[in-house]
Amino acid sequence: MRLTSEMGVKKIICWPDSKIVAEQIRHILRNNNERADQLARLASSRKPGQLRSTIHLEIPSSSATAECLTINEDAPSWKTPIRKYIVNSELPADPMEARKLRTQAARYTMVADELYRRGFSTPLLKCIDNHQADYVLREIHEGICGSHSGGRTMAAKVLRAGYYWPTLKEDCIEFVKRCVQCQKHDNLIHASAAELHSISSPWPFALWSIDVLGPFLVAKGQVKFLLVAVDYFTKWIEAEPLACISAANVQKFVWKNISKGQAEVANKVILTELKKRLGSAKGAWAEELPEVLWAYRCTPQSTTKETPFRLAYGADAMIPVEVGEPSFRRQHFHEESNDNSLRVELDVLDEVRERTQLVAEACKQWMSRHFNSNLKSRTFHEGDLVWRATGSARRNSSEGKLSASWDGLFRVRHALHNGAYKLEELSGKVIPRTWNSTHLKTYYS
Ligand SMILES: [Zn+2]
Repeated sequence: MRLTSEMGVKKIICWPDSKIVAEQIRHILRNNNERADQLARLASSRKPGQLRSTIHLEIPSSSATAECLTINEDAPSWKTPIRKYIVNSELPADPMEARKLRTQAARYTMVADELYRRGFSTPLLKCIDNHQADYVLREIHEGICGSHSGGRTMAAKVLRAGYYWPTLKEDCIEFVKRCVQCQKHDNLIHASAAELHSISSPWPFALWSIDVLGPFLVAKGQVKFLLVAVDYFTKWIEAEPLACISAANVQKFVWKNISKGQAEVANKVILTELKKRLGSAKGAWAEELPEVLWAYRCTPQSTTKETPFRLAYGADAMIPVEVGEPSFRRQHFHEESNDNSLRVELDVLDEVRERTQLVAEACKQWMSRHFNSNLKSRTFHEGDLVWRATGSARRNSSEGKLSASWDGLFRVRHALHNGAYKLEELSGKVIPRTWNSTHLKTYYS
């Protein structure tokens, strides 16, 4: 019955056997229903496992006739005016609307009581309404043959499968945006979320940035952490291997080195340098550290165009190569004139520092411009639901490469300044630390 109605059959002759079907149409007396009984017997006497075969029977005259009526008209949808125009030539009263509809309808046709659109990708696209579209989207995106593809690909797939509705592309994009699995496994966002906030230090050793590296392999003296401090102005670096990170240890380090932010960049330099120097002997990092630090202090830094050593001491340190292959200043060394020049250098040191500050400021501006050029501002408000990027440390190791890139769901508890946020779980449990907007994205539902 459903099949015939789908095929658009207007009149159907039935010889029902089943009571349910019969009651739906009209009850037929048993003696008027012999043929149907015969058909049913034929079907039930078929041996199991036998292939189905079509039974052809010629029926000279109908024993009973019943007409199948269309059940109920679909709720009005975008198809209704077009269908009305094609079937009954009904037009809206407004002449402009009528003209628009006539032009539109030229692209549509009726096949077996279904509206089809003449497409470019496929000859005929079946026109479907909301709840059908919802099923088609679901099936194509996450069904058996679904591949969680992106919005545009999905729209192309829907058209290829032969369906059409006016807001197809937009609906596909919206659907993908709201798919939880797609949100969870989406790529991390590399565009910056907020403007760069740089810190300037007015004078050498006024501002330090401290960071902890590690844990590394346990080296001589049971040390496995590295405490690094970098001065914002000169980029002077101090580092000390520690066995454990305790308040007392850090305080000792600070008093020893600093009483007479940047750290992350320097950390990278130190780590790369250590890796290259150590080869496979990773346990010897603590012994190699002084050399790495020394090398860093004698290298001109890109932000200041000066070596940290010169900015701190007013002169460039003599590096071993100048001794091995005597350089000009090594060959023409004169102790007395050297002392004088050093004093002169110290007097002009302030000038060098002033210039360095200008260079560093220009560099920072350039950095900000560069950073902000790739800016896609993402700001959140209190109460917003967000995903948090799953860093390598928080990834579920048992899931390996298949683990999700985004953690969810969190609610923004407080929006602090400079793109930092305090998060909480939906139950209200506060998440420790603050989170930068770089690691957050909106949750769509
Ligand atoms: Zn998906």
